[in-house]
Amino acid sequence: MSPKHVEAMYDVVIVGAGAAGLSAALGMVHSPEFAERRALGEEPSVLVISKLQPLRSHTGSAEGGIAASLGNVEHDDWHWHYYDTVKGGDWLVDQDAARLLAQEAPAAVINLERMGVAFSRTEDGHIAQRRFGGHTADFGQQPVKRAAYAADRIGHQILHALWQQCVAAGIAFAEEWYVTDLVLDEARTKVEGVVAFDTHTGAVHAVHARNVLLATGGAGRLFHTTSNSWDLTGDGMALALNAGLQLEDVEFMQFHPTGLAHTGILLSEAARAEGGVLRNAEGEAFMQRYAPGHADLAARDVVSRAIRSETDAGRGVADPK
Ligand SMILES: Cc1cc2nc3c(=O)[nH]c(=O)nc-3n(C[C@H](O)[C@H](O)[C@H](O)COP(=O)(O)OP(=O)(O)OC[C@H]3O[C@@H](n4cnc5c(N)ncnc54)[C@H](O)[C@@H]3O)c2cc1C
Repeated sequence: MSPKHVEAMYDVVIVGAGAAGLSAALGMVHSPEFAERRALGEEPSVLVISKLQPLRSHTGSAEGGIAASLGNVEHDDWHWHYYDTVKGGDWLVDQDAARLLAQEAPAAVINLERMGVAFSRTEDGHIAQRRFGGHTADFGQQPVKRAAYAADRIGHQILHALWQQCVAAGIAFAEEWYVTDLVLDEARTKVEGVVAFDTHTGAVHAVHARNVLLATGGAGRLFHTTSNSWDLTGDGMALALNAGLQLEDVEFMQFHPTGLAHTGILLSEAARAEGGVLRNAEGEAFMQRYAPGHADLAARDVVSRAIRSETDAGRGVADPK
């Protein structure tokens, strides 16, 4: 699909077609504001631009699950999810955002199911939930099964469901277009669109927009070993910086603790959720020393630091040279 009128003025241009970009597009076309404008005979417009075909977005590689205090398997409460999110971020988290996330997650998961995500099921037919690092009940007292899952491919399911909904809603896509610049007005106070490079034809387009939303994923490719695909090069951050805009919280980069050594292939947290135990080269289940109580299901930064400490102390995996 290509946008019909590249030279048109779009109400919104969304850069990125992963879970974030596709959800935003659906949220807009189904918003009361857009409905009101349609009722007045207007045609509010959204264009999603993606340097990849949308179904190749990295969201498709998420494996283990999505956190929501549905309480389908064990009693849960959004206040506990909220607490875990703030504690997991060492109290540096934007607490308003964390609260909204925890409060709205159950409804978002149910909405995803209605859009077509084939979640795994409990015996009595509810959305199944498993343990994940840092998910606790009673404000940190014991682990709780909070991650709603679809076998080992939650991201694939979510990406396909969102994409199908966008196609059904008739949202316009510019696929395999690479956004290279944000365009600001002369006073540099207002965004006016983006510049994008069509990787099929080599043509460069100026796309006019009243609003631009950047949903371009992370920057995991900064690191030598990463579970992130080649496209995760922090483009959104670069676009904003090049336009002279400020970034926030760029120092917060998540490290997933487990993978196949030196390959960047993720070993999902689900492995520990289902009873897998981390051992050092001496066979010791070392996480009890670092996180008594939660051990292997401590938050990801805690487990990552513990693995690093064990490796630095000479008790890590041998380097296969
Ligand atoms: C191996 C792995 C497993 C994971 N497992 C889980 C899990 O179990 N649970 C969980 O909650 N999270 C998990 N995550 C994290 C989760 O997948 C991501 O946080 C989430 O998918 C990010 O979605 P996104 O829409 O922000 O980005 P992405 O899905 O990466 O999408 C980015 C989009 O931006 C587009 N784009 C980028 N730059 C440009 C540009 N210059 N011009 C045009 N388009 C551009 C790309 O084409 C793409 O469409 C996992 C991540 C990995 C790597």
